[in-house]
Amino acid sequence: MALEEYKRKRRFEETPEPPPKVETKSGHRFVVQKHEATRLHYDFRLEMEGVLKSWAVPKGPSLDPADKRLAMQVEDHPVSYFDFEGNIPEGNYGAGSVMVWDVGTWEPLSPLAVEGKYVPGTEAEADAMLAKGDLKFRLNGQRLKGDFALVKMRSRRPGSKGTEWLMIKKHDDHVVEGYDAGDIDESVISHRSMDEIAGDARSKEWTSSRPATGRGKLKAAWLADTLARIEKKKKASGSEKPEKSTAAASSEKKNSPAETVKHNRGQKNTKLSRQAKTR
Ligand code: MN
Repeated sequence: MALEEYKRKRRFEETPEPPPKVETKSGHRFVVQKHEATRLHYDFRLEMEGVLKSWAVPKGPSLDPADKRLAMQVEDHPVSYFDFEGNIPEGNYGAGSVMVWDVGTWEPLSPLAVEGKYVPGTEAEADAMLAKGDLKFRLNGQRLKGDFALVKMRSRRPGSKGTEWLMIKKHDDHVVEGYDAGDIDESVISHRSMDEIAGDARSKEWTSSRPATGRGKLKAAWLADTLARIEKKKKASGSEKPEKSTAAASSEKKNSPAETVKHNRGQKNTKLSRQAKTR
């Protein structure tokens, strides 16, 4: 049954994620969700066959055809997951913050290029290409635009789950060489940064007037984990987030590299460790 795996992995009384429901009609939207789980990744989802076909892309999609991005196919998600942004509580599958990084529409392309260019294809062609493991499509998002392919890799490794695909930008007018999704840390729907999305959950937990019954245990576990993580970060690099005022922190992103270095004097690891996290 469709969405069975999605359902099996989640406890809907604890996670704010939408319940499993297969739609009878399929639209043609796509979404990229930046997901700060155990490892940061980007979930690329295409609305198809009444669900969101989903791939986890560790380095994020690229507009540079030279990048062949590993994309691990994951369980189908319900269409209502499309605009999910928020925090999956600790102890739940995929715990961490989710940002809607890009949204838009997609259309299938013909399986073969005509004089070097791909032309719009049919729904049936898209279904067949997906099944075959060579799906070509055109995106019209706020950030991702143009022609792409998702190509399933032949599993060479013994023990490979056969879920490894490559996401590749085709050559067209929308190519951006050296593209790095990690350079953009802003939700297309709420315009919040990842820290701001995570911060909402933190402040909600801290100021909650809810009596500590029922969910109290979960709350405590969540806090303990967060505190442990903050402590670990402080120890790791002289802090990943420099200890400074909120104003200084928010202006840092817009500063030139030289200014950033000045702000971070004595914390030279800051930029490096932040980069390491996104790779
Ligand atoms: Mn994910």
